Amino acid sequence: MSDTSAKLVIRNIGMILSGKMEVPIFDGDCLIAHDGKISAWGYEKDMDCEAATTEVDAHGATLAPGLIDSHVHPVVGDYTPRQQQLGWIDSTLHGGVTTLISAGEVHMPGRPKDIVGLKAMAIASQRWYENFRPSGVKVHAGAPVIEHGMVEEDFAEMAKAGVTLLGEVGLGTVKDGKTAAQMVGWARKYGMQSTIHTGGPSIPGSGLIDADMVLETGTDVVGHINGGHTALPDDQIICLCEGCKAALEIVHNGNERAALLTLNTARELGKLDQLILGTDGPAGSGVQPLGIMRMVAMLSSLGDVPAEIAFCFGNGNTARQRKLDTGLIEIGKCADFVLMDQAQHAPGKNMLESVQLGNLPGVGMTVIDGVVRSLRSRNTPPATRLPELVVGTLGT
Ligand SMILES: [Zn+2]
Repeated sequence: MSDTSAKLVIRNIGMILSGKMEVPIFDGDCLIAHDGKISAWGYEKDMDCEAATTEVDAHGATLAPGLIDSHVHPVVGDYTPRQQQLGWIDSTLHGGVTTLISAGEVHMPGRPKDIVGLKAMAIASQRWYENFRPSGVKVHAGAPVIEHGMVEEDFAEMAKAGVTLLGEVGLGTVKDGKTAAQMVGWARKYGMQSTIHTGGPSIPGSGLIDADMVLETGTDVVGHINGGHTALPDDQIICLCEGCKAALEIVHNGNERAALLTLNTARELGKLDQLILGTDGPAGSGVQPLGIMRMVAMLSSLGDVPAEIAFCFGNGNTARQRKLDTGLIEIGKCADFVLMDQAQHAPGKNMLESVQLGNLPGVGMTVIDGVVRSLRSRNTPPATRLPELVVGTLGT
C-alpha cells in the first residue's frame, strides 16, 4: 500500500450482513477497506487495524452493504420536478440507500421523444450523474425510453457513448411485443440492460403492459411486477414468476398485496434469488426516502421471511442481477455500507427480530467508496446504538 492510500477501519461491529442469501450473516466484528474497496473482515484481534485514515467505532451496530434502489426516475442533480422536491436523493441516503438505478428520466419537462433528442438526453443524463453524485450517492442514469423508428445503429451509438440502461419499455410509443423484443435485443447486443413497465398505466398518458407483452419482450428486469401502481391480475403475476429468468422487481409505489403474491410465488418456485427491490419514486406517490427499508420490513413481516434474507433483496440480489460492483461483502467490492441498529423501544430481542416484527431499523451511518457520507439518519427512527466517527471526517 502506498503512503497515500486511504484505509477505512470499522470496529466493534455487532453483526455483519453479507448481502448473500446463501450466507446472509458473516462472522466478525471488524471490516477494513483500502482505497474504497473491501479488503478484509473478521475479528479485530486477528486483523491489522493500524494507520487507519478513517476509523469508525460501530458501538455494536449492524453493518450491511448499502441498499440499492433498482427503480427510480431521477431527472437532474438532487431535484425532481415530479413533486417539485429538492434533496430527495440526500434524504434517500438517510434511508440507507447508496446506489440508485434509473428506469428512465421520464419526468424531465419537455422530454424529447424524437430519436436524436432522446439519444442526446440519455447520453447527457448518464454524464451529469456520473459527474455529480448528490451527497455521494451513485446514480446510474441515462436510461432512454424506446420509441418507434429506432434502428440498431441507435443502440450501438448510445452504448459507445456510455449509455448502459434502457428506461421502462412501454412508457414510449413502443407497446407491441415484437418491436420491443427487437429493440431490447439490440440493446442487449451492445451491453445495455433493459426493464419494462409491468401492469396498468401509471399516470394519464401511459398504457397497459400485460404478462404476454413482458414475456415476449424479454427484458433483463420485470420492472415493478407488483404494478406501478396498478398490478396485473394474480394469474398473470404467477405466470411471470414461472416464466421469467429475469429479475423480479418489487417496488414500494406498487400494490403491496401483489408484492406478497410475488414473494410467495417466487419462494414456492425456489426463485427468491431473482427478487430485487425498488421504490419507483419520484412518482405520483411522491418520494420515499425510507422506501427500500419499508419494503424489507414489509416483506419480512407480512411475508414471513427472515430479516437477514429480506435485506438481501435490497442489496446483494440487486447487485447480482444488475451486475454492480457493490451490494455484497466481498473482497474488492466497493466499500458502500449502511450501519444500523434496532430502533429505540422497538420490540424484539435484536435488530433482525424487530424488522421481522415489521419495524424499521434506525440508520446510524452510511459509507460510500470508503468515505463516511452521513451520520445519524434524520429520517429513520433513532437507533439504540450509534456508530461513531473516531478518526477522519465526514465526506462532502
Ligand atoms: Zn413504470
